[in-house]
Amino acid sequence: MNHHDLSKKLQELDGRSYKAYKDIKGKYEFPKFTLIIEHIQGDPFASPSRVIIKLAHNIANFPSELYKNQSRKIALEDYLIRQFSQVCQQLSQHRGTGKSGVISIIKIGQEILKRTAVNVNKNDIEIRFYVGLPARGRTILGHQAAQMLCEDIPHIVEETLLYKSLDSQAIKKQVETAEDADFIRQKLWENNLVAFVANGSILPRKSGVDPRPLEIDAIAFKSPESLEIKFETPNQGLIKGLGIPQGITLIVGGGYHGKSTLLRAIELGIYNHIPGDGREFVISHPSAVKIRAEDGRSIVGVDISSFINQLPQQRSTNNFTTTNASGSTSQAANIIEALEAGSKVLLVDEDTAATNFMIRDRRMQQLIAKNKEPITPFIDKIKQLYTDYAVSTVLVMGGSGDYFDVANQVIAMDNFYPYDVTEKAQKIAQANPNQRIREGGDNFGQITPRIPLAKSIDPSRGKRDVKVKVRDVYQVVFGTEDIDLTAIEQLIESGQLRSISAAIIYAKQHYMNHENTLTYILDKVMEDINSKGLDILSHFTQGDLVSFRRFELAAAINRLRSLQVQ
Ligand code: ADP
Ligand code: MG
Repeated sequence: MNHHDLSKKLQELDGRSYKAYKDIKGKYEFPKFTLIIEHIQGDPFASPSRVIIKLAHNIANFPSELYKNQSRKIALEDYLIRQFSQVCQQLSQHRGTGKSGVISIIKIGQEILKRTAVNVNKNDIEIRFYVGLPARGRTILGHQAAQMLCEDIPHIVEETLLYKSLDSQAIKKQVETAEDADFIRQKLWENNLVAFVANGSILPRKSGVDPRPLEIDAIAFKSPESLEIKFETPNQGLIKGLGIPQGITLIVGGGYHGKSTLLRAIELGIYNHIPGDGREFVISHPSAVKIRAEDGRSIVGVDISSFINQLPQQRSTNNFTTTNASGSTSQAANIIEALEAGSKVLLVDEDTAATNFMIRDRRMQQLIAKNKEPITPFIDKIKQLYTDYAVSTVLVMGGSGDYFDVANQVIAMDNFYPYDVTEKAQKIAQANPNQRIREGGDNFGQITPRIPLAKSIDPSRGKRDVKVKVRDVYQVVFGTEDIDLTAIEQLIESGQLRSISAAIIYAKQHYMNHENTLTYILDKVMEDINSKGLDILSHFTQGDLVSFRRFELAAAINRLRSLQVQ
């Protein structure tokens, strides 16, 4: 069948009841591409219909240079989603009831991520998107539908998926930027770094809810000379900037001087950013995990005894479970779980940390005896984390100089410029001993592996075997419960949550057998996705899956209130 057949069919459907749309499911040849109508919505208010376009390389004509490796390919795909999305928005119009007339593709932000919406394959380019088949009430608007599918869609393809229609310089810039960013990320560890912030980076954002770069009065980043590192990148040549070494790095400075903004950029430095974002070359180690307090969360069977012991009522901390964690127990669990999942870099901001978890000064030690205080503060464990487990920490701490004793580097933010104040801080520490008594012994302590029980993970609800839905970027409906991921600050797109929910089910089906540890399960699931793609997570061709890390998958499993572990 071809586009003429489709157009004719749609005209004939005009005036019939919405259900008749089911007839157009199928595959249609257009002059330049194949259109596959994969799934048809039940009514104009339901999720829009799922549509796929396949376009041969000899039509699209992208130079193979642009997708010759994984970094470039993902960046090219990301670029095409952005173009497609823009033209869809221009062409979408209200054509009747509900979602009638909408043509859309997954919504994305500032990051370049692998997504199933666009796939540059060996043989073709595939685009997965959504069409709101038009109706007035429940009466099919056939002529409008024909216009959308047989005129608008070819127009969108023409404008956004053919190399000749696009800005070749902008595409080149995008793939080269991503390739260089991945290059630096790969070199971080061998250079003993946990993160890199290029000179000239723009770190502040437009607002707390707008992730685009602040334009007015933004001060560009400039590394202090003593910590300046350079990378010879494949495309942009020499890039210089601040190298944050492994070990313990303190970011200090007065309030409102840009500490949290720097840390936030480092948190998101696990992802590549689009050209113009300002954080294209803020690069972090892929295992960097933001740690924060998260009171109220559920914790299941986590050994938090490294930090917390002798709780009132003899509650065990080797195997700690609660439905309502405190600030300190939640922060302890967040750390242990990140270590269990394999993180080598922890990122902590005083703004979102529990004070009693971070510090306990000499005066408090004198007033409240150790046997009355279950918490061994982070300050007494931060060094052992590095010596015992090679786990580095970057810590924003403007409020306590006690940390000078344990820091390898101290960076001061002053009017949004960083300064290396390591020596000064060390001298001050020597001249003013804090007289704290170290707590918690000489070693960090055990990270006890846990075995999640498959039977405790149940995505079913009522008659449905699987009822999973993303409410917003940070909330997932999973069977009969809601997983709250509000505190997982390195999740940025709702597509990631969709993938993570699917991955939990996948993990249960394939790897949870009452023997495998969570670590092993994470290894396997991520291995499968890396080798076979995100599509293994779904039974149908989904255009809204987005890549995610093992740490965020673990975070979601760990926050399941039904979870049981051995
Ligand atoms: P701190 O954590 O030190 O209290 P923040 O990082 O929260 O400070 O920054 C305070 C404000 O300054 C924020 O509104 C932020 O957007 C803005 N800001 C941060 N860095 C810069 C910069 N380089 N140029 C301009 N404004 C900035
Ligand atoms: Mg702050």
